[in-house]
Amino acid sequence: MPFLAKASLKAPILGSLNSGPPPRARALAADPVDDLVVPAADGKVLRPAAAEFDGLLPFNLRTTVRPLVIAQCRTAQGVSLAVQWARQHGVALCGHGGGHSYEGFSSCAGIMIDVRKMDAVVIDAANQTARIGAGALLGDVAEKLFVKKFALPAGTCKPVGIAGLTLGGGHGVSSRKFGLTADNLLAAKIVDATGAELTASATQNADLFWALRGGGGGNFGIVTEFTFKIHPVDRAIAFRLVWPNNFPTAALKKWQGFAQSAADELGFVLVMSGGQGHITGIRCTGQYLPAVAGQTLTVSALRTLLAPLLSVGNPTLTTRQFSYIEAARYFAGNGDPNRVFFKGKSDYSIGALTNDGVSAFISALRNSASPVAAIFEAYGGAINRVPEADTAFPHRGDTRFCIQYFAEWSSSAATNKNVAAVRALDAAMRPHLPGFSYVNYIDLDLTDWANAYYKANLPRLQAVKQQYDPGNVFHFAQSIPLPV
Ligand SMILES: Cc1cc2nc3c(=O)[nH]c(=O)nc-3n(C[C@H](O)[C@H](O)[C@H](O)COP(=O)(O)OP(=O)(O)OC[C@H]3O[C@@H](n4cnc5c(N)ncnc54)[C@H](O)[C@@H]3O)c2cc1C
Repeated sequence: MPFLAKASLKAPILGSLNSGPPPRARALAADPVDDLVVPAADGKVLRPAAAEFDGLLPFNLRTTVRPLVIAQCRTAQGVSLAVQWARQHGVALCGHGGGHSYEGFSSCAGIMIDVRKMDAVVIDAANQTARIGAGALLGDVAEKLFVKKFALPAGTCKPVGIAGLTLGGGHGVSSRKFGLTADNLLAAKIVDATGAELTASATQNADLFWALRGGGGGNFGIVTEFTFKIHPVDRAIAFRLVWPNNFPTAALKKWQGFAQSAADELGFVLVMSGGQGHITGIRCTGQYLPAVAGQTLTVSALRTLLAPLLSVGNPTLTTRQFSYIEAARYFAGNGDPNRVFFKGKSDYSIGALTNDGVSAFISALRNSASPVAAIFEAYGGAINRVPEADTAFPHRGDTRFCIQYFAEWSSSAATNKNVAAVRALDAAMRPHLPGFSYVNYIDLDLTDWANAYYKANLPRLQAVKQQYDPGNVFHFAQSIPLPV
């Protein structure tokens, strides 16, 4: 049922991509923001001078777009009013959850439709499901679920939003056991381009439901609530292996073999850092979960599982016995909410890197002009057992790991050299990797981005876009294009 905006909708206000350029703010005679009326129960209109405004700008300081106005919504009706206002005034719009888009796509020159206040977590323990407001942040979700000893597989960083994470897939240390965040989605409520609230699930708007599981944030509407399958959890062991810095080749070769064969109960990431002639760090951090909830975990059983990694280069192994939530807090670190400058680029390895690929990587990492890191996230397990066409997220099957090249810095003066370092590492690996990319590490450098993110699922995503957003209202630099 569509909610009514102050003035009735005259459709279509925004042209389709087929018929012209993307939507832009048109010249407005009077201040259009005066027309944006949101009742207090449904939200609040924040102009740039509002105290809360800057706190909602994207986490990545490298991105600089400030919105004209923010609709801080508390209800689906508030979201609907904001969408309809944007259409009536021909103003660009974007959804905003945790604000952690790598390219700042939750801000735009028009209206940011923020759902952060819609962050309730309601657990149905009997059915092992939870309704989670689209504005919830991962740290809060984990804490609230664990009060009843449940968990949702998700990323580790506390201030990342459930909205962007889920819509792009969502991998984390529990994903080899429980799947991607999107794999656990049962239903979503979403306000579409007309301002109507739809439910997407296996039985309602099933194509949209398919697309919301990995098709990327910001493409089909503004999600207001998710329903997830949740998993009983109790204990976990967190582990860390640190190799001496003179073992990069042996460690990486062994790690990528291990990433294929490891038990589902292990979720793990290899981080290698270097630059300016040195390898500066080689460590694998991970989590060991019981095969079935309640089963006792022992460090000796973990050591047996990790034997292949322990057999090379004499790494130091540290283990911590934790409750599941303590492990989540450990992986999250201090979860510094302060905005930083960063650049990430990603690819996927289908099978293992060749010896030439490993050599090229180590050499490029060591010789990077400025410090840079590569983060290898092990796939396999429950992630890879879902067929690539079953959800919009396509990186399954023989995918061995996601690799991310990453740099973070604190001053704009350092932007050019850090971005160049990340790009150089990616360029060195171009001959050795397929050129796919994770949509949640969204990357404006990519030219063939739609195929890189979605592979063979792109045509179906375009068909869903045509069905649910034919006027291309939800448009940004890398939104799913309408079919030609
Ligand atoms: C420090 C850091 C750590 C990360 N760790 C992980 C990790 O462990 N695992 C992982 O898989 N990913 C990780 N990511 C990537 C993360 O999943 C993406 O950046 C994700 O898009 C962030 O979601 P968000 O809601 O915080 O971002 P936002 O910037 O708010 O939104 C991202 C995109 O989704 C859209 N969007 C936001 N809200 C809605 C909504 N309600 N409805 C529809 N569209 C919406 C936005 O318009 C934008 O296009 C990390 C990112 C950072 C910066």
